[in-house]
Amino acid sequence: MAGNRKSNPKQVRRAFYIGRFQPFHNGHLKVISEIAREVDELVIGIGSAQMSHTPENPFTAGERILMISRSLEELDLYFYVIPIPDIYRNAEWVAHVRSMTPPFSVAYSNNPLVSRLFYESGYAVKHSPMYNRHEYSGTEIRRRMLTGEGWEQLVPPAVADVVEEVCGVDRLRQVSMKGDIE
Ligand code: ATP
Ligand code: MG
Repeated sequence: MAGNRKSNPKQVRRAFYIGRFQPFHNGHLKVISEIAREVDELVIGIGSAQMSHTPENPFTAGERILMISRSLEELDLYFYVIPIPDIYRNAEWVAHVRSMTPPFSVAYSNNPLVSRLFYESGYAVKHSPMYNRHEYSGTEIRRRMLTGEGWEQLVPPAVADVVEEVCGVDRLRQVSMKGDIE
């Protein structure tokens, strides 16, 4: 959480944005920068919060909180970062999110399932453009970490720092190995 509250709490425009952020990258940052122009506060959900140490979900919820909160320090935005574990029941998922988050009136998502679930629960849903999607993509960044191709330029500097701090590339490589260590 960072920044100063901008307005009368009674009139706060508060939005929700969720991702797995494995890792948080420049596409996410650009989306959030755009949302910041439209709302006073943003609730950022860390999806699949219980997951870590797998090829698709290498980073813990705590590490992802660090990545996000450090990357957003410069933005003029009041934000909350809230871990949301999976419940594996789509029809009840929005209620699950609501039980963990400050109230919000609009959900931003480009994920079709997330959009559908919020729409069916009566929320206003907004989409953003996809920015440089072939590179600003968690899947592509994890692939590059494995092959040794450059990925640091695709994430905010604070994210590269966190990955280094937790030896994230080593971790991803090890948990992606097939078979036993011999
Ligand atoms: P992965 O490949 O691991 O699924 P991802 O890049 O899709 O990673 P997510 O954490 O799944 O990242 O995405 C969270 C939200 O951000 C989703 O709504 C997704 O559509 C959106 N998003 C992801 N990449 C971009 C991008 N380059 N530009 C705009 N929105 C993006
Ligand atoms: Mg995705």
